[in-house]
Amino acid sequence: MNYKTKLKDITTLMFDVDGVFTDGSVLLLPDGEQARKMSTRDGYAVQLAVKKGLRIVIISGGSSEAVRLRLEKLGVKDIFLKSSDKMKVFNDYVNTHNLKKGEILYMGDDIPDYLVMREVGLPVCPKDAAPEILAIADYVSHRNGGEGCVRDIVEQTLKAKGLWMDGDANEW
Ligand SMILES: [Mg+2]
Repeated sequence: MNYKTKLKDITTLMFDVDGVFTDGSVLLLPDGEQARKMSTRDGYAVQLAVKKGLRIVIISGGSSEAVRLRLEKLGVKDIFLKSSDKMKVFNDYVNTHNLKKGEILYMGDDIPDYLVMREVGLPVCPKDAAPEILAIADYVSHRNGGEGCVRDIVEQTLKAKGLWMDGDANEW
């Protein structure tokens, strides 16, 4: 089935953070903290998706509180950091919310995402994902991690449902 057809049934969009919302870099600061860079265009699309009733879920191996704050500010409620075993987090979430495979999209960029991506109805990835991930994605964004790949897939999902630029889209 074409990925665009699958998009119509998606209710839940799951994302890795590093290499998806970011370009995968971390800036190593003298105090031991790490800084990351995110796209405000990705941010706009995510907060709109939340407003439109889509479920946004973050499953990250990272532990950055700055990442949590940023995503919370966008309205995201289901943020799972320090997910060393993404399959466990995924299975728990799917069972709790009684989700079907076909309504879940997952965007990841590297090997820790591999098993979860095999489980969802619509696995997608940024253009610069690892080769193993590119090989199993139903859709490869024309955008790289941190450079609008999240915006790309969220925008396409909202468009598939007729929810893009449909009224209150101008309000942030
Ligand atoms: Mg990653």
